[in-house]
Amino acid sequence: MICWICNKNEANSREHIIKRSDIKRVYGRGSYRGDHAPVHVKNGVVKNIQGADSQILKYNESLCSECNNNYTQPFDSAYEQFIEYVFGNEELVLHKRFIDFFDIYGNEFEVGQNNLYKYCAKSFGCRLVDAGAIVPDDVRELLGKKSFQTGLRINLSVNEDVFILPHEDRDGFIGKGDMLAWMDKSDHAMVNGYEWNEHVSWLTISYWYNTYPDGNLGSTWVADSRFIYLGSVRPLNDEQREYAHKKVNEKPNKAK
Ligand SMILES: [Zn+2]
Repeated sequence: MICWICNKNEANSREHIIKRSDIKRVYGRGSYRGDHAPVHVKNGVVKNIQGADSQILKYNESLCSECNNNYTQPFDSAYEQFIEYVFGNEELVLHKRFIDFFDIYGNEFEVGQNNLYKYCAKSFGCRLVDAGAIVPDDVRELLGKKSFQTGLRINLSVNEDVFILPHEDRDGFIGKGDMLAWMDKSDHAMVNGYEWNEHVSWLTISYWYNTYPDGNLGSTWVADSRFIYLGSVRPLNDEQREYAHKKVNEKPNKAK
C-alpha cells in the first residue's frame, strides 16, 4: 500500500484512531488497570486498552513515516493546542459558544486555524482509507497548500446529551462516528459525498464532503475564519435521555 498523502512512499506508519494526547488528557500515560481503565468498542466488541500507545487505537498502515511524523507534525500540534484550550477553558467556551482562534494561536491564528483544518483533513482521509474509500484529490492536495478550494466543510457543535453528564462520565467519551457515503442516484458505484463525525467529550467535529452541512451543527468552516460558532446537537430522544439520567443518578459512587 502506498501512503495516501504523498502518493509515493510505502505506507509503513499507522495513524492514531484516537489521538494519544486525548487519551492521556483523561486517563494519564498508562498502563491502565482497574475500574477506570478505558476500553475501546468497535462493532460491539469491547477491548481493554493497556496504554495511550495501544495498537488497538491505531489504523492500519496508510501513511509513510515521513508524512505521519514530520510533514503533518504542525497539524497534529495545532490540534493538541486546540483541544488543550477548549478543555482548559471549558466553562468559558460553553458559555460563549464560539471560539476565537486568536485565543488559541495568538497573532499566528491564521496559520494555526489552517493547520488545525489540515489536521482534520488528515483525520478524515485516514478514516476514508480505513473504510476502503479513496481520499479525494482536493483533500489530499490541500495539505500542502496555503490557500485552497475543497469540497470538505467542517463544523463544531456541542453534544447537549453529553454536556449534561458529570465530568467523570463525559471526559472519557472519545470516539468516531460511522462514515456515511452518498451514492449517485443513477450510478450506484459512484459516491457523491461523505458525512462523518468524531467527538471528544461534548465537542463534536462534523465533516461534510460534497454535501450541505447541517447549520444546526455550527458555522461552516473551511480554514478561512478567525471565529468558529458552535452548533448544538441532542442525539438522544426523550426516553433515552430519561434513561441516561436515571443511570447517572443511580451510580453508587456518586456524592450524595
Ligand atoms: Zn507519505
